[in-house]
Amino acid sequence: MGSFARADFERKVIVMNDVKRWAYERKIYDCMKGLEKRQYDPIFAKDRDEARKIVMDMIPEGAKIAVGGSVTLNETGILDEIRSDKYNFIDRYNAKDFEDMLNKYREGYFADVFVSSTNAVTMDGQLVNIDCSGNRTSQIVFGPKKVIIVAGVNKIVENVEEGIKRAKSIAPMNARRLTHKTPCAADGNMRCSDCTVQPRVCNVTSICEGSTYFPKRISVVLVPEVLGY
Ligand code: SF4
Repeated sequence: MGSFARADFERKVIVMNDVKRWAYERKIYDCMKGLEKRQYDPIFAKDRDEARKIVMDMIPEGAKIAVGGSVTLNETGILDEIRSDKYNFIDRYNAKDFEDMLNKYREGYFADVFVSSTNAVTMDGQLVNIDCSGNRTSQIVFGPKKVIIVAGVNKIVENVEEGIKRAKSIAPMNARRLTHKTPCAADGNMRCSDCTVQPRVCNVTSICEGSTYFPKRISVVLVPEVLGY
């Protein structure tokens, strides 16, 4: 490729990225209106680094923190920050055995802050989640005094139906990541057979229609990047 052609190509890539960013931001602003209407606390973060800063600024030193299983928390570096000595982290990833893990989940209901992502957020501001044990779905709803959700633009969907479809479509990847031996996570599969095996990851579906009873308890930090899945 000659130098002119290369410059032209690079300019097009930059323009394309600008357009993509513009579309992502538009989508987020519209979604924020829906969240605000439903008494959530929507926050725009320009990128994952700003999202991390926003989240950590919201958590006071010494706070007792629980988290929901989330690739987004890893990709944003939030989980690493939460592990710092400054906080009292209920570390679900450091459980001795199954019973210990369940005890940590239970302790999470008394956390000061619950940090998680969401499987989907609708343009009208509903949160849609599918869970295995139900600790994440339930702690978003009630328990921890404060909930902070971080979500990339890829989590925004048109409506609840699309949100459930989205959550179900990524369930096999979650099962595989968590090494849950489900039929959909087996080599060469990825299809849902509505299984009934013990480690099924789709036991609980929650739709949060609003936070009107506890206004602003749930902050939703939206990022114009693809985060998690
Ligand atoms: S119901 Fe079972 S097979 Fe279907 S996605 Fe969930 S875990 Fe996989």
